[in-house]
This record gives sequence, C-alpha cells and structure tokens, in this order.
Amino acid sequence: MKIQRFAIACLTLCLLPFSCTQARETARGPNPGVAESASLAPSVPDRSAAPNSPPKFESSRAFQYIKEIVAFGPRPIGSQNHKKVEEYILSHLKGDSVEEDAFTIETTEGKFPVRNLIAKFPGSRDGIIVIASHYDTNYPLRDTPYVGANDGGSSSALLLELANQLRGKKREGYSVWLLWDDAEESMRLPWYDPESLYGVRHLVQKWQADGTIKQIKAFLLEDMIGDADLHIEREANSTPWLEDMIYQAATRLGYQSHFFARTSQIEDDHMPFLEHGVPSADLIDFEYGYNNVFWHTPQDTVDKLNPKSLEIVGTVTLETVQMLDQKD
Ligand code: ZN
Repeated sequence: MKIQRFAIACLTLCLLPFSCTQARETARGPNPGVAESASLAPSVPDRSAAPNSPPKFESSRAFQYIKEIVAFGPRPIGSQNHKKVEEYILSHLKGDSVEEDAFTIETTEGKFPVRNLIAKFPGSRDGIIVIASHYDTNYPLRDTPYVGANDGGSSSALLLELANQLRGKKREGYSVWLLWDDAEESMRLPWYDPESLYGVRHLVQKWQADGTIKQIKAFLLEDMIGDADLHIEREANSTPWLEDMIYQAATRLGYQSHFFARTSQIEDDHMPFLEHGVPSADLIDFEYGYNNVFWHTPQDTVDKLNPKSLEIVGTVTLETVQMLDQKD
C-alpha cells in the first residue's frame, strides 16, 4: 500500500499559534469523527445491550498460522513459495465454499499468474460483508530474506482464524466472505500505482460484471495488524460511518486505546471497492517500528508481533460485523 499523507492534522495544527502539545492532543484525540460531548462521555462502552455474545478469537492459533506462512520464505508472485502459500490457505478451507479468481497479468517484469481465494459463509440476511487480506510479498524484494510477517502474513493468518469462527454456523446476519487477495504489492519500489493492487482490481471488475458488487454492504480490509505496539489508523480514504462503527465496536470491547489516535491517508486494497461505491475501511497500523522502519524490510519478522494484537483486531472485526448485521 502507499501512504498519501501522514498525520496531516497534527502538522497543520502545530503551525497554529498555540502550544503544540495542545495541538497534538486535539489531532490525536480518541475519535476525531465524534462530537466533543460524545468523546467526553462515551455512549457505548457497555455491550450488555448487544444482542449477540462477545466474539471469540483464538489468537494463539492465529499466531501459529503466521509462523507457518513465513516459514515458506518470501512469497512474491510467480514463485514456488507463493504456490505453497496458496495451497496452505486452501488446505485450511476444506469443506468450505471457495471461489477462485485466477488470471494472468502482464507487467514490465513479465507475465505472472494471480489467484484470489474467497471463502463464503452464508447468512440469513440479503447482502455480503467482505473481509480481505493480501497474501503476497513484494516482487522487488524477492531475492532478500523479506517474509512479510506483519505485511501480508498477520492479516492472512487472522482471516484463517476468522474462518474457524465462522465455519459450521448459520449466520443470523449478512453472508461473510473472506478474501485472500493476490498481487497487492507493487512490482516496483517505490510504489507504482499502475502495477499494484492487481488482485482486487480484477475482482472488482468481475463482481461488477456479475452483479455481486451491488450486494456488498461493507468491505473491511486488514493490513499490518500484528504489531505488538498496535495503533490502528483512522484512515482518511475509508468510509467515515464505517470507521465510526469500528471505533464503536472497539469501545464496546474495551480496545479503543488501540484505535484512531492517528489519522493517515493510505491507498490500499480498499480503493477499487471505494471507487465502485462499496463502503470500505482499511484497518492498518502504519507505524511498524519507529518511523515505520520495519515495513518492507527483512526486519518484518514474527518477533515484532504479538498474539494479543491479532485478538484485538479479530474481535473488533467480528463485533463490527455483528453491528453491520443490525444496521438498517
Ligand atoms: Zn506491503
């Protein structure tokens, strides 16, 4: 993914003629999208009124999935390791309803096979919630020890555990589709828009043609969510009401301190869905190490991550899904 603007609110406010500390508090407040009275007296910390039981998520199992994914090594498109990870994901979805979207791309580096994998868990309500993660690592880093434990690994593992939680139950709500999308990473570094996000761009075209896109009520993207020091951005391209709902879900579960202290604007796999009118949110922590120093480097390894972060994002995602189920 690509950063468009970073902490712009703080930079702007720091130029104003009052103390920067005050400005930082304003810019980094708990939930800039909510009125002041609401943030002084949070209105929804209590989930006793929530109709469903609190979401479950086995973080130790999810963490083990990350270790197994990175054990294959770098997984750029076109590689044997990439194929092994595709088969690894499918091996966890035996018996599930799985759609595959396989195609070939032509790039400046040559032709490559691309394969999106979608596991579908039906619900009683008309409509679909898509939860997505890319699983490839960067092609330009293919000859380095870069394994993307956080970037691509953590979120793909999180989806595998979400599948475990969704499997075997008839949902009282929307259908949930889990999407492991491919070829998110740019073919060149620095980031090059025309040669990135191949998987979702193809899928959006396909789902536009067959009418699926109109059925999607929300698109929730998970990216870099395993950092032990977890701070999910309020992402400025994302749909504001959906971001508010995620914050409300986090507050219900007591996890709000991990959400939205920073605002960033990031181009990620949610962009093609946003462009097709699908309410979308990018759950991403884009400060991975001080100044994001571990991002897209061989230092993106499992030791920087924590199962608790997976549990926080996993349960907040499931709580958000339950809230979407109730929405008019
Ligand atoms: Zn990346």
